[in-house]
Amino acid sequence: MSNYPKTMKALVAYSKTDYRYEPAYPSPECGDDDLIIKVEGCGICAGDLKCQHGAAMFWGDEVQPSWVQPPFIPGHEFLGVVVEMGKHVKGYEIGDRLTADQIVPCGECKFCKSGRYWMCQPHDIFGFQSRCNGGMAEYVRYPKNAVLHKVPKDLSLEKALLIEPYACSKHAVDRADIQCDDIVVISGAGTLGLGMVTYAALKNPKALISLDMVEQRLEKAKAFGATHAFNPSKIDVVAELMKMTDGYGCDIYIEATGHPSSVIQGLSGIRKLGTFVEFSVFSGPTNVDWSIIGDRKELDIRGSHLSPYCFPFVIENIASGKLKTDGMVKTTFKLEEWEKAFEYGTGKYGDFKIAFIP
Ligand SMILES: [Zn+2]
Ligand SMILES: [Zn+2]
Repeated sequence: MSNYPKTMKALVAYSKTDYRYEPAYPSPECGDDDLIIKVEGCGICAGDLKCQHGAAMFWGDEVQPSWVQPPFIPGHEFLGVVVEMGKHVKGYEIGDRLTADQIVPCGECKFCKSGRYWMCQPHDIFGFQSRCNGGMAEYVRYPKNAVLHKVPKDLSLEKALLIEPYACSKHAVDRADIQCDDIVVISGAGTLGLGMVTYAALKNPKALISLDMVEQRLEKAKAFGATHAFNPSKIDVVAELMKMTDGYGCDIYIEATGHPSSVIQGLSGIRKLGTFVEFSVFSGPTNVDWSIIGDRKELDIRGSHLSPYCFPFVIENIASGKLKTDGMVKTTFKLEEWEKAFEYGTGKYGDFKIAFIP
């Protein structure tokens, strides 16, 4: 006898052109090492949208193999309550409220073995492979290697849905290694960029500058701790940075838009020996004069991927209110409304984070 039904509502990706709402999809089975949670909510990530739009980085093309393995249930920004536990599982109870890192580490590759689990070579992430189904469903299986975290029961769902995105924001900002006399630019004020702003503000840099083309987002960035907010469609950002820094340029530039123009702007606006952090996923190549990195500025160019070791801090500080969350999750949908939800997920109606409540 199990504690949950044999079938469930789910959004299922069968191919890059075939996503379907299934009212009675088989529920996950609970193996001896597994936990089953009843999903409370699942955010829609830009990655989920790009995957549904058929991007080659997910489905493959002539040069890269397919990484996704359909049929799968999308969604890696979810949390829920434990309804079933395998007999080998220790440390949890039925009714615990849990979330997990989006990656499920293999535990055996050289990255996992050296503690760098977020770069795990096989790279299973919830919501892209049938063996690792995601949160756009009523139930999810947490396998043995899932990196689980308890979520306080009194934390509102709107706040809890920001745990995964803000954890990714934290890692990107940590990569920048901000010092208190730094002039920091965060380019892009979507959910992730705003998560970076509210976390970077805790480091008290000399100036924290948010960039975005949408005024409403810039207002939110100011409310979240940005000291300045510039709209690149209205002012010359590089000229403004030079004015603020006696012509040197900003110390740190974090790129969170995924647009080539933001990369070029950053490389131009950053000072010599500055640190450039790239967080975004791009839909095509960026063309720049690469010599700026070496011969002209000797820059530190750092990548940022996922959110290693970031969940505990983020859960604690979302709960305490030190990380600001006001107005980030306002619109939710049922799974049957997935097409509308994905459309809203693009942000074209002014939303930050859209989520499913199954
Ligand atoms: Zn995400
Ligand atoms: Zn691994």
